[in-house]
Amino acid sequence: MTCFQVIGEDYVKDLSQLKKLNEFVDDATFIRDIAKVKQDNKLKFAQYLEKEYRVKINPSSMFDVHVKRIHEYKRQLLNCLHIIALYNRIRKNPTAPFVPRTVIIGGKAAPGYHMAKMIIKLITSVADVVNNDPAVGSKLKVIFLENYRVSLAEKVIPATDLSEQISTAGTEASGTGNMKFMLNGALTIGTMDGANVEMAEEAGEENLFIFGMRVEDVSEMDKKGYDAMSYYKKIPELKQVMDQIASGFFSPRNPELFKDLTDMLFKYDRFKVFADFEDYLKSQDKVSKLYQNPVEWTKMVIRNIAATGKFSSDRTITEYATEVWGVEPTDLKIPPPNEPREAIEETVKALKKM
Ligand SMILES: *Cc1c(COP(=O)(O)O)cnc(C)c1O
Repeated sequence: MTCFQVIGEDYVKDLSQLKKLNEFVDDATFIRDIAKVKQDNKLKFAQYLEKEYRVKINPSSMFDVHVKRIHEYKRQLLNCLHIIALYNRIRKNPTAPFVPRTVIIGGKAAPGYHMAKMIIKLITSVADVVNNDPAVGSKLKVIFLENYRVSLAEKVIPATDLSEQISTAGTEASGTGNMKFMLNGALTIGTMDGANVEMAEEAGEENLFIFGMRVEDVSEMDKKGYDAMSYYKKIPELKQVMDQIASGFFSPRNPELFKDLTDMLFKYDRFKVFADFEDYLKSQDKVSKLYQNPVEWTKMVIRNIAATGKFSSDRTITEYATEVWGVEPTDLKIPPPNEPREAIEETVKALKKM
């Protein structure tokens, strides 16, 4: 049962009609079919990775995806600290049940942005250790997706179970990746930042995994001063993770490799990674718990897809046209850009007469 069969095809031109999907949130057949689409997309992406990059991933594991430019404010580091914490939990208790995850991080660093390049180096170094530890097996895999670009986004976003939107509150103007994932049937773990706020408003906060400081909490902390060391002392899992990075556990041939990175996190982290660490881990535990219940997970996915109407670019442009630019639609046909010159000249002439 496709979306076409369930609510008709008008939603293609009027995305707000996706809200009709809410009527089918308890329909067992529809739930099964939505889950099947996701599973097919995951399988296809796993095959692509195997063919192009010779890496094997477990298509029944949760695909936890964080793809965007590498930047301190987007906090790929917070994700990386979580990966290490999960790794430590597996090693501490190898026989305990664990919800299998494939964490995929991708994005480019600007050529002159040293810290961003070190973040990538940390991710690939952690991946080397985690992916080759027999104690971990297929429970946890870490993939750094190189050369992230639109043609790769088109493949990975539809295959995603969990979308990482974890910037420090008050730093992301909007984000667009967050909306793409939501429309394509991923659940979001995120802060109350940028358009995550509207996504929570549209879908209901209970249908996202919202964690961490709100904008007000961040400004309050800026007044009092952010003390990274206090979190390090207070949270045992954070202390262990940071001690490992600082002592060269992930860079045995160059124990000092991540010194710039650890110095930044302890002494001048403008994006307060440690302050959200504990709540992020708790929220990730809730994600894992729900993932064990595929029906409830998929129901939440359906509620999210149904709430994406507002994020249509058609709606956005129409609103700009009427409210900001004060212009109305014309029935003049604008030819596509690859049309012969003459067709475009005709349109230009007609426009000049208006
Ligand atoms: C959507 C998109 C982005 C923007 O992602 P954000 O999460 O909003 O920063 C960047 N790169 C590519 C290739 C995209 O498709």
